[in-house]
Amino acid sequence: MADQARTSGVFETAGESETEAAGERLGRGLTSGDVVLLLGDLGAGKTAFVRGMARGVGANPDDVSSPTFTIVQEYAGRTATLYHVDLYRLEPKEIDDLGLEDLVAGEGIVAIEWAERWKGRPDDVIEVRLEHAGEDRRSIHIRHH
Ligand code: ADP
Ligand code: MG
Repeated sequence: MADQARTSGVFETAGESETEAAGERLGRGLTSGDVVLLLGDLGAGKTAFVRGMARGVGANPDDVSSPTFTIVQEYAGRTATLYHVDLYRLEPKEIDDLGLEDLVAGEGIVAIEWAERWKGRPDDVIEVRLEHAGEDRRSIHIRHH
């Protein structure tokens, strides 16, 4: 994992564009097979972070939207496809049936919003936890396992 030192730790952003920039920094260092689990409440900035990740991997950030009726979205990046999963509206049984194990074992880069809902989530991942820190501020915790 390239760029790990610069993208680990806890930092605060002021506004959506700063969260996107943080996602972009992480995205730039990602390679095929990397898995990013996004944790945090509604409005914490998970989708904003993934929009930045898309830019970082060379995909079109405008394709990243929320909410969506597509559970898994694909964005073609420079060297790998970014798979963007949102578990928000799914029942536990539906999550079990998605085949996420196969997705994370594959060639793509995978970003999963509401990853805390996936009981079978792997440990060998990058964990991004976003928290409200007042008005337009968010605290972002990134851990590379
Ligand atoms: P989630 O996917 O976690 O539900 P979104 O990324 O869809 O969250 O939405 C985050 C909302 O919070 C957006 O409306 C955005 O403009 C707002 N916001 C305010 N400050 C920030 C910040 N620092 N980082 C990210 N989003 C922010
Ligand atoms: Mg979202």
